[in-house]
Order: sequence, then C-alpha cells, then structure tokens
Amino acid sequence: MGWTPERITDYEYDDRDRMVRSTEYVESAWNEDERGWMLALADWEASRCPSCGGDPDECQSPTADINNPFGTWVYDAEWVECHRASAARRLAHEPEDRRALTPRVSRRRRGSARSKR
Ligand SMILES: [Zn+2]
Repeated sequence: MGWTPERITDYEYDDRDRMVRSTEYVESAWNEDERGWMLALADWEASRCPSCGGDPDECQSPTADINNPFGTWVYDAEWVECHRASAARRLAHEPEDRRALTPRVSRRRRGSARSKR
C-alpha cells in the first residue's frame, strides 16, 4: 500500500566486462507530494480543538453551551467500557481497576430526549 521511493542501480564494468562498481540511487521518501500531504495533515491537526480533537466551530460554539438559554445543541456524556482494554487489564491481574471505562460523548438537539443505549 502507498508509495515506495524508486531505487536505481548503475553498474560499471572494466574492459573485460567485470563489474567494478555499483552505485545505488534511492529517491527521497519526502518528495514534493509527501511533504504536501504531511503539511496538510499538520494544518488540519492544528485546526482541531486541543481538548477533544473535534471541530472548534462546533464544540466551542456558544450554541452548544449547556448554560446558554438560547443554545441549540447539548453534549451528553456517559461511561462506556472498552472491552479490549478490559481484557488486557484482566491479563495483567489489575484487581482494583479491571474495567477500562472511557467517556462517550454524543450531541443532541436541545430539548430532545437523551438517547438510550
Ligand atoms: Zn473541543
């Protein structure tokens, strides 16, 4: 998958057709396209909310503020278990902290019922 830098090998021979030298040229993995992709990724990452990784226009909007009486959206959060991480904890015999809980956040229109999971 993806892109592989090109490799080119030049061979030099003496008068008796014996190879005397080989020189390999390897294209840089950081060509113009790859640099462009990485710069675009850096720009995108810098544009995200540092707290949640989401779109700041959405998660930092006053319309999502639970204390704003004119807000249109609210976020709900609940603890959910990551069963993969819990299995790893069981393997490590961590009796005090066997369940790997992580917050799950969902967005809903203000006034609508919380979703039941
Ligand atoms: Zn955020």
